[in-house]
Amino acid sequence: MRNILVVGAGQSGLQLALGLQAKGYGVTVVSNRTPEDIRNGKVMSSQCMFHDSLQHERERGIAFWEKDCPPVEGISFTVPHPEQAGVKALHWSHRLDGIAQSVDQRVKVPGWMAEFAKRGGRLVIRDAGIDDLEQWTLEHDLVIVAAGKGEIARMFERDAARSPYDKPQRALALTYVHGMRPREEHSAVNFNLMPGVGEYFVFPALTNSGPCEIMVFEGLPGGPMDCWRDVRTPSEHLARSLEMLRRFLPWEAQRCTQVELTDANGILCGAFAPTVRRPVGRLPSGRVVMGMADAVMLNDPITGQGSNNAAKFAHAVEKAILAHGNAAFDAAFMQDTFERFWAGYGSHVTGWTNAMLQPPPLHVLQLLGAAAGSPSVARRIVNGFNDPTDFANFFMAPDKAEAYLAQVAA
Ligand SMILES: Cc1cc2nc3c(=O)[nH]c(=O)nc-3n(C[C@H](O)[C@H](O)[C@H](O)COP(=O)(O)OP(=O)(O)OC[C@H]3O[C@@H](n4cnc5c(N)ncnc54)[C@H](O)[C@@H]3O)c2cc1C
Repeated sequence: MRNILVVGAGQSGLQLALGLQAKGYGVTVVSNRTPEDIRNGKVMSSQCMFHDSLQHERERGIAFWEKDCPPVEGISFTVPHPEQAGVKALHWSHRLDGIAQSVDQRVKVPGWMAEFAKRGGRLVIRDAGIDDLEQWTLEHDLVIVAAGKGEIARMFERDAARSPYDKPQRALALTYVHGMRPREEHSAVNFNLMPGVGEYFVFPALTNSGPCEIMVFEGLPGGPMDCWRDVRTPSEHLARSLEMLRRFLPWEAQRCTQVELTDANGILCGAFAPTVRRPVGRLPSGRVVMGMADAVMLNDPITGQGSNNAAKFAHAVEKAILAHGNAAFDAAFMQDTFERFWAGYGSHVTGWTNAMLQPPPLHVLQLLGAAAGSPSVARRIVNGFNDPTDFANFFMAPDKAEAYLAQVAA
């Protein structure tokens, strides 16, 4: 039996661990927090996952919250009028071909940890350091670091050619609430783009206390929605969230007249620079470990892709491990597995997400405008959130967008 150790009990680490376990591998997961720490701690993400990512969980028999979690049935897109308060300059929505769902990681991660242990997995609670990795590489066939934004991910060298930003591009905040008025047509991610201010999106989810809505604020640094530094308490955080909505997005504020925080830990604010790192981490001994998901491919949450990328990355690694049989998991295996994932999927996610952090170029404005009058354009954009590789065909380059819009018009 081959033995694999995974550092990090998050979306990618646990999905991979549970997947390999079911295939008969000996798997150890190292977490720097206990299940209780995670369940009772602060929210970490808005973790909206689209159909193909959810499918990876369903296929592994670990989509435990599917029935309890409210579905996200579509995506709406709104730009407020620059001069007339309360007026939408652009608005459209479309249903997703398959629903999305967001299960609070405070629910999912402890649940998966318990399942992993129940199925015979070895769970170690420890804040892994380089010395630990040295020891574990001696004892295991492969060590994977899936530690997300954890400090240890810095052992993987930043890939400057694939990382156009060296500073955070948004001031981020999350506000988990109960009591928001549901959308009328169908449930959705309501995405609002405010030029010069940032973005706000909101959608239904499942948290510790049941169904809720998650508000996500993406403020441009130094702009009016970069506004969380002086917030001291959870109730101040909620008040600031509502103040932003009343000021910039009154139609969203109107849904929030009865809201309350899900819990005192249902809030988060922070910022990080989107960063791609090299997948092979070389230890002082010369032995190697492999980076996975956010640890080596950290994107801004603006496009809601991190957990999706983590699920797909973990799936790609699982497939590569199975296909590798009894061969050595050397640096070439790690590099090759990463490059294949990057070429076929990851580069599309990172390229599109990084592009969305910039003011939209003319061809993107034309596509977003066309979607208001054309359900087929709207449908294509909306379903790109499930499979961002399609954006290369019509969204990412002016000539492709022009050809697509001409085809739609014809
Ligand atoms: C504000 C915000 C909103 C987001 N919204 C979305 C969204 O809507 N949709 C989406 O798809 N993604 C979203 N994401 C991103 C998503 O949450 C992450 O991309 C995803 O969780 C990454 O999975 P992972 O397995 O790489 O790491 P994580 O899920 O972060 O797990 C890493 C784990 O490793 C542990 N760890 C760290 N260091 C160590 C160590 N030294 N030893 C042991 N354990 C360690 C951590 O405690 C953590 O539990 C959002 C992120 C943020 C910040």
